[in-house]
Parts: sequence; structure tokens; C-alpha cells
Amino acid sequence: MTDQEMKFETKAIHAGLEPDSATGAIMTPIYQTSTYAQPLPGVHKGYEYSRSNNPTRNALQKNLAALENAKHGLAFGSGLAAVDACMRLLKPGDEIISTNDLYGGSYRQFTKVHANYGLKFHFTGMQTIEAAEALINQNTKMLWVETPTNPTLNIINIDAFAALAKKHHLILVADNTFASPYLQNPLDLGADIVMHSVTKYIAGHSDVIMGFLALNDDQLRQDLAFIQNSVGAVPGPMDCFLALRGIKTLHLRMQRHCENGAAIAHFLANHPKVEKVFWPGFESHPNHEVAKAQMRGFGGMMSFSLKGDKLEDAFSVVSKLRIFTLAESLGGVESLAGHPATMTHASIPKADREKTGVTDSLIRLSVGVEHIDDLIADLKQALA
Ligand SMILES: *Cc1c(COP(=O)(O)O)cnc(C)c1O
Repeated sequence: MTDQEMKFETKAIHAGLEPDSATGAIMTPIYQTSTYAQPLPGVHKGYEYSRSNNPTRNALQKNLAALENAKHGLAFGSGLAAVDACMRLLKPGDEIISTNDLYGGSYRQFTKVHANYGLKFHFTGMQTIEAAEALINQNTKMLWVETPTNPTLNIINIDAFAALAKKHHLILVADNTFASPYLQNPLDLGADIVMHSVTKYIAGHSDVIMGFLALNDDQLRQDLAFIQNSVGAVPGPMDCFLALRGIKTLHLRMQRHCENGAAIAHFLANHPKVEKVFWPGFESHPNHEVAKAQMRGFGGMMSFSLKGDKLEDAFSVVSKLRIFTLAESLGGVESLAGHPATMTHASIPKADREKTGVTDSLIRLSVGVEHIDDLIADLKQALA
């Protein structure tokens, strides 16, 4: 059976992986080496130097590419290093149209780093394609979508943006971090590049910082592999091993994240102190139908606001939580809570953030894989 023929669960455990040729070790060894012996100059076994090529990293790249139904995969030292590699495909004067409620670190890199090198960014709502299409001109080269978005869980129609990208010969990049490859495969919907912060659901144990790009086009692969080697933002073999170990249970974890997420979303929606729950699984979510069509589940990420919208009420809730830990990040086995207005979105002026739904009382949850009764009991006592 080829990697392509396997179901997701089987790929997660086997795709791209072989017992070690030297010893038969079942688990991919951590090739903690910078260089490789050459019997004669230029004669080697495919490995010369670990920035260019490393067996542990190669195994991870093949495995993760298979999970995105991609021909090619490239791993980077962080999610933001993978974002940076995409931007280096462009030249001064090129323009990028991006969703306006994207990950804050991507926004910071676009506006504070790449804008200084002549790239021009436009940020717009992407609930429909019209606003983005109106911004396209002869300099436009790339569309940047992120779905679901953070922290208000908006859904962007990847299929519709892929058609727009094809029509205008643009590269469509989809940040698939929140969904994970288990819930959504943007290349199958027409995206050119899938970007991941492996740090989150893919590695899944809050112990690795890593990024990934998955793609099908051979020329794009050549260009991005050149950037990966020339810029050098590569992950180390130990981190690649940890990511591979995490991936083996990605499907099991995502199933539980989805189950627990749905139960908590419904619990919160029925709680008298809760004003609004942002979760794409509700029929009342403005893009529920798109989410249902392009995702295999709704995941474990959600946000909710409190009646009265008081900052001190949100602080009281997050400080009383015992199982949910107050922390940045998401996608690990443990449940986390965050307060976007003072944590991830603190640098955005109040009037601007409130326009996108990031109000004073908004609390974001990354629902983990603990027992659902304990998670609900924790929220109940914190909201009491
Ligand atoms: C965390 C995150 C990133 C950045 O990834 P790092 O691994 O932290 O560099 C990019 N996009 C999204 C949606 C994220 O959640």
C-alpha cells in the first residue's frame, strides 16, 4: 500500500517512515549530527550537512506532507519561520492580500519586517471574496488566508479563494494551524501552500516550537527548499523526533478535542452568565455551512464573552480556573484559557479590537483531552 492509499490514521503512524536501515529501530532515530562522512569528495549517501538535509527531518517532512495529501513538505524552526519563507518567494513591489483577523505574530512580521523590504500588505475581511477581489491589481502576488481565525473563530471559504487565486494567477497560502491536517486539507480545496505552526495541534504536547509548509507544485518546492537551506531556519533533529512522536496520536487527540469542544461549547451557550460563544459548530455561526463543507469536525478552539462585558469579571473567571491553565498557545493535550484583550491582542487599540469581536470579557479556550466532566466542573465553579 502506498502512502497515498492509506487512511489518515494509518498515515499518521506509517507514512514516510521505515525501520532504521542500520539497526532496524522501529522509531525514527534522532540523527543528532551536523555533518556526514564522505569516502571521496562529493561521494555520500544523500547527506552532506544537516542544514540542507537530515534523516530525522526528512522522515518528518514526508510524514507530515502525507497528512496534508501533499507531494512535498518542508519543516522550519517555527511557524513564523515558515511564514517568513513564503514571503521570501516575493520581490519588492509585490502585494499581498491577507485576512484582517490573522495570528498576531504573522501580522507583526508582515507589517514590521517585510513591509520594510518593499512588500505591500492589504488586510481585509474574508467572509466573502468581494472585498479581497477589489484590492487585486497588477502587483498582487499572494493571498493569505487563515481559517478558523483567532480568537473569534471566523471561517474563510478556501474553495472560493482558490478560484479567485487561479483567476488572477496568485499564490494562495492557507494557515491551517487551528484546524490541523486531521480536520482540514487546504491543498485538496485548491490552495497552493499550506502553512502550519507544528507547535500547536500537530506536535500536540506543548514541548516543541516548529513550522511546516506543504505543497504540490515542483517549482514552488524547489524555490522554498532553496530558501529553507539558504536562510537556514531549520528545526533540529530532536524537535523533529518529538513532532513525529506527537503525530502518531494526532487523530486520537483531535477526536477527543472535537468531542470535548462540542460539549463545552453547548455548556457555555446555556450558561446564564455567558453572552456569546464563538464556535463554528453552531448552526447560528455565520459560516457554519462552509465549516461543515471544508472541515471534518469543529475542533477544540472557542471563545466566549460574559454578560455585562466587564474586564474584572473575565479576570475573576480565568483566575478561578483550576484545570484550565491561563497561558498563551493552544493545541496541546492540556486545556488552556487565554484573555485576548490583555494577552494576545493587547497591542491592538480597544476600538479596533472590539470591531472584530475581541471585547473586554472575551475568554479563549483551547479545550484539551482531559475528562469532559472535570473540564465542565472547572468552568462551572469559575463562572459561579
Ligand atoms: C502559533 C501560530 C503561528 C506561529 O507559529 P510559531 O510556531 O509560534 O512560530 C502562526 N499561525 C497561527 C494560527 C498560530 O496559532
